[in-house]
Amino acid sequence: MYAKNSNNLQGKVMNMTENQRLDQIAITVKSHKLLKKLLKENPVLEDIMRNARNETEALIGVRNWVLEYIKGRPVAYGFYRGDEKGRDSFEELTWQDYAAIRLLDYIENAGREYEDLNIRGETAVSNPIKAIWMAVNYGTGGAKPYFFEDMLYLFRQFSGTYSRSFPDKEMLGKWMERFPDGLDPRIVKLREENRERIINILIDKMDSGEIKSSQYCFPQKISHEQKFLKMLDWWDDYKFHLNFAVRSPDLLNELLGNSLDPDTMKILYEAEKQGIPFFINPYFLSLLHVRVPYFAIGADLAMRYYVVYSQQLVDEFGSIVAWEKEDKVEPGKPNAAGWILPTHHNVHRRYPEVAILIPATMGRACGGLCASCQRMYEFQRGNLNFNLDKLKPDESWDDQLERIMKYWETDSQLRDILITGGDALMSSDYSIEKLLGAILDMSIRKKKRNESLPEGSKLAEILRVRLGTRIPAYLPQRVTPELAKILTDFRKKAIKTGIKQFIIQTHFEAPLEITPEVRKAVKMLLEAGWIITNQHVFTSASSRRGHTAKLRRSLNEIGILPYYTFSVKGYMENYFNFATNARAVQEQIEEKVFGRIGRELAQKVSRLCEEPWNSDVKLAEMIYKNSLPFISTDRNVLNLPGVGKSLTYRVIGITRYGRRILEFDHDKTRNHSPIIHKMGKVIVIESKSISEYLRQLEDIGEDISEYESIWGYSIGETEPRLPIYEYPEYDFKVTDKLTNLEV
Ligand code: SF4
Repeated sequence: MYAKNSNNLQGKVMNMTENQRLDQIAITVKSHKLLKKLLKENPVLEDIMRNARNETEALIGVRNWVLEYIKGRPVAYGFYRGDEKGRDSFEELTWQDYAAIRLLDYIENAGREYEDLNIRGETAVSNPIKAIWMAVNYGTGGAKPYFFEDMLYLFRQFSGTYSRSFPDKEMLGKWMERFPDGLDPRIVKLREENRERIINILIDKMDSGEIKSSQYCFPQKISHEQKFLKMLDWWDDYKFHLNFAVRSPDLLNELLGNSLDPDTMKILYEAEKQGIPFFINPYFLSLLHVRVPYFAIGADLAMRYYVVYSQQLVDEFGSIVAWEKEDKVEPGKPNAAGWILPTHHNVHRRYPEVAILIPATMGRACGGLCASCQRMYEFQRGNLNFNLDKLKPDESWDDQLERIMKYWETDSQLRDILITGGDALMSSDYSIEKLLGAILDMSIRKKKRNESLPEGSKLAEILRVRLGTRIPAYLPQRVTPELAKILTDFRKKAIKTGIKQFIIQTHFEAPLEITPEVRKAVKMLLEAGWIITNQHVFTSASSRRGHTAKLRRSLNEIGILPYYTFSVKGYMENYFNFATNARAVQEQIEEKVFGRIGRELAQKVSRLCEEPWNSDVKLAEMIYKNSLPFISTDRNVLNLPGVGKSLTYRVIGITRYGRRILEFDHDKTRNHSPIIHKMGKVIVIESKSISEYLRQLEDIGEDISEYESIWGYSIGETEPRLPIYEYPEYDFKVTDKLTNLEV
């Protein structure tokens, strides 16, 4: 039945493109079985496929079938055609509408070729209807079972046999309970045991001379118990943790009680050989379970997979392609977003109002190395490693800083400075104080300059200063009273110059990262008058039902506001940690929705920016009074490999491997570089199919029937931003002119 014209096809082997070659590949037995099911469940589809004489007739047949449905659904039809846009129209779409729109998008984009950076730039072609037609008529097309699984659900959704049922609040509560936080007394006890184990091993290694430190050494002839107490004191000192951070797989395994399995060790040895740096400090290591507690099985995976490398990362290391194109900088020349920048390495910019400052200090390092960090791209070229001594600032930093401050001072639109790295709080107190002092002076000069400029020609003055850091999670001991004083003093002076928002932008991945040490550090930062917002990376382990919801709650309880939930960016190197965007939308619609707040509460949240003190108490009160599980102040987004963040997308294609092809639109709720009008939409080919993602969840013990609706989420719409994240208004008119821009 499937062998029609196979001789003809063989005759065309010469001069064929790679994709024509793939068209001839026979589908597997499993694909055949799924195809059979697909046809049995959809007699109309079978009819179209069997009667179509070529792929075009197959496309037209399916198109007419879907159009007949969608024309009876005006909002969905308008949405498909682009006449209806925005959150309100999106929320009116039915489950069946999603499928109809996806099918029409597949047909509209049939045969389109894409450079697939997941497979080292090979061409990927999406033509799912043709793939089905070829499979039906020739048994070829090379489509894999993951492709057919996705198509099976798509046609079920279109025919109405696959419905969606929303979880209720009670169900969400049960999911959240699976993930205790690090303040749970049972977890605190386990961590104490971990700390004891790590300390004892480190003492033995110091005694044997295997580990040496000039700064941390024991006096002669003291007992093991005395050494233990001494190291317990050192444990509160962040420099101890930086000094004793693990830099090899063997020590990592030893400090984890030799609990890593041989397969993981093999990957880690390969990683070491490939030159991927290791940097895991003893405090963070003490958060990982060695003995899996019965009440928190798998709860530490989001942390564990954040520091333990995957096979795909090791395989790709050396061939990783930069995701953030706008981060490639040549001074004097516009970056991918059109902005001209003052130095090679210190300023990154995507938007008119804000730019990122990366100081040439220890701030280029971090308190740990996250497996899915985009900086792996730099590490593979030997840049930015964890040689902390080499990262200390040299004399040229002062000159550079002056030039960088001039950039902010003279730019017409910049009003926000995000100091990051690496990690802003890895810099010494001295460097931080100096940098904040330079910002203060620049802000005063900018304000002064404006006095002589007429209304409508004035420059944007500095309103917001942010410190981007994962230190509160990796090494909360770094937040000392001295650091808090620097931040307090800066705020007091800066408020007088018109700066209104002081934000620590942190990065927590798991409820288990919220420990008593973190709570103490966060309290100090809040008391210094800085609000704390969180950027969470939605990895496969953290995407489990209830995990991100629980993280939001645990953050709220210590006074932190969720800011962004980012889909993992990158290509095949981040395959392991990548959770599909369909899951990000499912999470947004089925879990995060329970923490949505109205306008009145949003205004109350906004006031935390002026009065961050006791944010923990204030947030707890809001949660309690409004019977909320948490306050969802974050937006789920992807950092686009172009300009900006967005979750406004449609699935417009699918590869033979079942990996979805998404077309993103820019976030319409914020200002962009005018270059976006030239750039158009952004294509992202996911590194993992929905089937692969679900199998991975199954492997880590999830019941995948809880995720059943994931297949249907093929459209995303960026959520509105809450007022707390808006810039305050000026009492003068800023010039419309854009400087430092070349489009
Ligand atoms: S803290 Fe941020 S910059 Fe540092 S390794 Fe992690 S993701 Fe990368």
